Amino acid sequence: LLDTSGQLRSTVFEEMTALAQRTGAVNLGQGFPDFPAPERMVDAASEALAAGHNQYAPIKGIPALRTAIAEHQRHFYGQELDTESQIIVSAGATEGLTASLLSFLEPGDEVVVFEPHYDLYGAVIRFAGATAVPVPLLPPAFTPDPDDVRAAFSPRTRAVILNDPHNPTGTVASREFLTQLVELATEFDAVIVTDEVYEHLRFNGQHVPIATLPGAFDRTLTVSSAGKTFSATGWRVGWVSGPEHLIRGVTAVKSYMSHSAAAPLQHAVAEAVGFSPEFYEHLLVDYRDRRDVLVNGLREAGLNPPEPQGTFFAVADVSDHYALAGVSNAKELGEHWAENAGVVGIPVSAFVGEANRGLYADWLRLAFCKRTDVLRKAMADLTLSL
Ligand code: PMP
Ligand code: GLN
Repeated sequence: LLDTSGQLRSTVFEEMTALAQRTGAVNLGQGFPDFPAPERMVDAASEALAAGHNQYAPIKGIPALRTAIAEHQRHFYGQELDTESQIIVSAGATEGLTASLLSFLEPGDEVVVFEPHYDLYGAVIRFAGATAVPVPLLPPAFTPDPDDVRAAFSPRTRAVILNDPHNPTGTVASREFLTQLVELATEFDAVIVTDEVYEHLRFNGQHVPIATLPGAFDRTLTVSSAGKTFSATGWRVGWVSGPEHLIRGVTAVKSYMSHSAAAPLQHAVAEAVGFSPEFYEHLLVDYRDRRDVLVNGLREAGLNPPEPQGTFFAVADVSDHYALAGVSNAKELGEHWAENAGVVGIPVSAFVGEANRGLYADWLRLAFCKRTDVLRKAMADLTLSL
């Protein structure tokens, strides 16, 4: 998060994309799809532009999108949300998460986070003057020790941030873990901020939003995004749902951030969120193929990655490759691969604070949100370079 002079620096994703561009390597670092967004959604955006939706959208989002999100939550999770008071559209999950956290955090508050985690969380906790209390997800299963989870909560805990399915590890939270979080959040009166941008990329079994567990909804802000589900990370349309008393604060903060997400794109996303169940099934079938190409390719290259259960990321312990490459950690191996194997990944240590970094020194994250031919070629090049 910080550079050597203690200043907040740009994201690791930009850095890795620049490395891929410089070396000409395949960018399996920054997670963005290299295939087109759904044609119907893109057409809907053109139609919205042609229809003249060129002025500010309402701060909380156009009614059609909020209605579509409410129907989506009912269809997939049996959740009943009020479109006027319990849903707000944001400029990507990034703004949704930022506005959520800034709406209630005060300087000195503690926020329980699970490491490794998406870098944004640490940055926003800093913006608020609050303190992150990290709990490690222990490799190779990347599950937390329940005693560590309990020990992280204190009377100063104001929030806990969950990300399920989980970037970067590709794991999904167990029912026991979710239940423990709801119990602890209730005991310590903490807000649960849950980042579920990969809700539709869960490979085995149905995604369970933590907000649907008994007693959770009233203290939970759930964030999602069109970027992952509709392969349109550049559109910057996301949303937050939760109880009115929390959404009110998110709306207030968000009013002074983007004000409103891009109006014509909201019209198109409203249509996409309502796509038929077949769309969501196909998305998963395609992603399962991509996952298998990457995981099998890594196995061919002599690695043993755990099979991702969700997201479009895989992680692998790459220590078996150190001797051959003449390196001593995953960060160095990543650089070696970029120069010599034509593949860029991100060291998992980039998603971890100082205290727990050593636990992840051997792990590299690779994104599989790429065309299968691109993934096949990248894996073949990797094996050839050995
Ligand atoms: N949370 C997680 C876990 C992510 O991986 C990402 C982006 N890849 C985001 C949030 C940000 O989502 P958005 O692009 O919708 O802002
Ligand atoms: N979420 C993407 C990832 O984890 C990148 C997002 C970004 O570049 N900010 O790779």
